[in-house]
Amino acid sequence: MSDAKPFLSDNAAPVHPAVWGAMRNADSADNPYDGDALSAELDARFTDLFGRECAGLWVATGTAANCLALGTMVQPHGAVVCHEEAHIEVDEGGAPGFYLHGAKLMLASGEGALLTPDGIAALIDPIRDDVHQVQPHAISITQASEYGRTYTPDELAALGTFAKERRLGLHMDGARFANSAAFLGGEAAAAAQKASGPVDSLAFGFIKNGGMSAEAVILFDKEQAAQVRYRRKRAGHLQCKGRYLAAQILAMLDGDLWLHNARHANAAAAEIADACGDRLMHPAQANELFVHLSEVEREALRAQDFAFYDWGADAARFVTAWDTRDEDATALAKAIANL
Ligand SMILES: *Cc1c(COP(=O)(O)O)cnc(C)c1O
Repeated sequence: MSDAKPFLSDNAAPVHPAVWGAMRNADSADNPYDGDALSAELDARFTDLFGRECAGLWVATGTAANCLALGTMVQPHGAVVCHEEAHIEVDEGGAPGFYLHGAKLMLASGEGALLTPDGIAALIDPIRDDVHQVQPHAISITQASEYGRTYTPDELAALGTFAKERRLGLHMDGARFANSAAFLGGEAAAAAQKASGPVDSLAFGFIKNGGMSAEAVILFDKEQAAQVRYRRKRAGHLQCKGRYLAAQILAMLDGDLWLHNARHANAAAAEIADACGDRLMHPAQANELFVHLSEVEREALRAQDFAFYDWGADAARFVTAWDTRDEDATALAKAIANL
């Protein structure tokens, strides 16, 4: 990969130097598990950021963050409504079935992998209140969506109202939450609040955006937070040297690094998107681009050392990250324009 211009995935991006520095600074003895001074800061830091009381717990993967939060919202005999292309359905190896003790995922559709109240109602309205039918207990949405789309604050508010009316929990898979917050704009607290809307829980991703091995589960409900503390241990996710995970998250929060990194990635994506014109399959609202490109065109780009994944037979996916070099983004934009 040394000469490659990497647009494979933000998962492939390196760890930010500030995160390494914070882990080094955490490198002295402290209480184990989450009893250390750094882990103890998280609830207050996230409460400040979101402007409402919450708990912030580290875990090592986005899969665990999603499933631990959803576990507090759905009974084993119930269901979580999600998009048919949601990560929890398509990319988590059946983890929801494992962590939710067999609760179902109910698959709704929606353009750009976004859900709407109408789309969800179309799915759940036909369900009878009858023991023979699985009842929905929660909704899971993804910000940014699997196609790099961002829910607006109005769309989130409408989903929040709908969830309340139907007595459903509302969870957000925020593996790329920072990119949506950056897209919606504003300083850190305003951006975070706009991007999260009225959700009950959020899997706040840091790893794709410069972290190494720490994501945060944010719980806006005290009882759910208390449950997740127990569930995290039972799930094998209570790491005994938790201070190194807390250090990563705090480094990302310090100076709003999470937002700066996401703005950088989004700007690179926007530059490339501008060059794509009609090829673009979804509006660029975060750091992922889905672009119509024939096999011959993809080969031509690969011959110029651009690394990316195919997306089906006639498209490609490009992902920018906190470390995307400006010259690489400009080069890709030019190469696509020249095809
Ligand atoms: C990357 C990603 C995750 C997290 O995946 P892990 O590999 O479990 O860390 C979750 N949701 C979405 C939408 C993602 O893109």
